[in-house]
Amino acid sequence: MATVPARPKKPGKVTPSDVRRYPAYYITGDGRPAAEASSCEHGCRVTDSCPCCP
Ligand SMILES: [Zn+2]
Repeated sequence: MATVPARPKKPGKVTPSDVRRYPAYYITGDGRPAAEASSCEHGCRVTDSCPCCP
């Protein structure tokens, strides 16, 4: 599986499933700023573990 998404999401548009699929990119890689600017539907940043997300 690729570690970098073919179409990286923009800041505010990253979803928890994106982070689960590409953690090397959205947590430790170039996509982190975009992920930090994004929240899940519960209001948690997608870079943090949300207790409500599956
Ligand atoms: Zn959540």
